[in-house]
Amino acid sequence: MTIVDKAKEVQEKIIAACKRSGRDPQDVQLLPVSKNHPAADIAELYKAGWNNFGENYVQELAKKHDELPADINWYMIGHLQRNKVKYIADYVTMIQSVDSLKLMNTIEKEGRKHDRIIPILIEVNVGEEESKFGVKPTLQDCMELAEASLQLPHVKLRGLMTSAPYYDDPEKTRPIFRRLRELRDEMNNQNDQLKLDVLSMGMTHDYEIAVEEGSTCVRVGTAIFGPRDYSNRQY
Ligand SMILES: *Cc1c(COP(=O)(O)O)cnc(C)c1O
Repeated sequence: MTIVDKAKEVQEKIIAACKRSGRDPQDVQLLPVSKNHPAADIAELYKAGWNNFGENYVQELAKKHDELPADINWYMIGHLQRNKVKYIADYVTMIQSVDSLKLMNTIEKEGRKHDRIIPILIEVNVGEEESKFGVKPTLQDCMELAEASLQLPHVKLRGLMTSAPYYDDPEKTRPIFRRLRELRDEMNNQNDQLKLDVLSMGMTHDYEIAVEEGSTCVRVGTAIFGPRDYSNRQY
């Protein structure tokens, strides 16, 4: 199967998961995650009409941005160091991995510099895994960041993002995704100024469950591009 066929197959499974859960497939974005895969693979999907891609590393994202058509939308989904925000600030479509006030303030500063509003998500470590980044999954911790964002004119908080722990049985991720959705709802209820509509959750192993639980953006790498070979890093 080609990459394009595989992306279509994932899209079909998303539509089926929407049907099962009474959702409109238009409300779920499939974001192909191209990290560690060559620009040529992205170009192949782009030619078939896909123009949103998720990347984890600033250098890799910036290099692919330079190499590929300018109308591709780039989403930063990996851990982001403050001193690297400047390399992507003038074009990045969304930063999904915001997990501190300091990082948010840096994004504000860079947004102001480029005279643009940068859409962001708060990354929440719902599974409370030590190995993962993200804020604690409490209403208080999330609200602290969310309310601070309301004071930043060049940052637009759109919602929440999480990566579930890996379980052999993906069904076990369901409570994680449900919790992220509840957190989002609680936040919207607590402050009228917050209109959080994005829930970025679900990866190759668990995206169908995430869609059933309300995901509006699934980040899928392996099921589209195949396994990542880190012994052959190009970026
Ligand atoms: C790599 C990555 C993905 C995609 O993972 P797959 O299991 O290959 O689908 C999604 N989200 C984040 C944050 C990632 O780092």
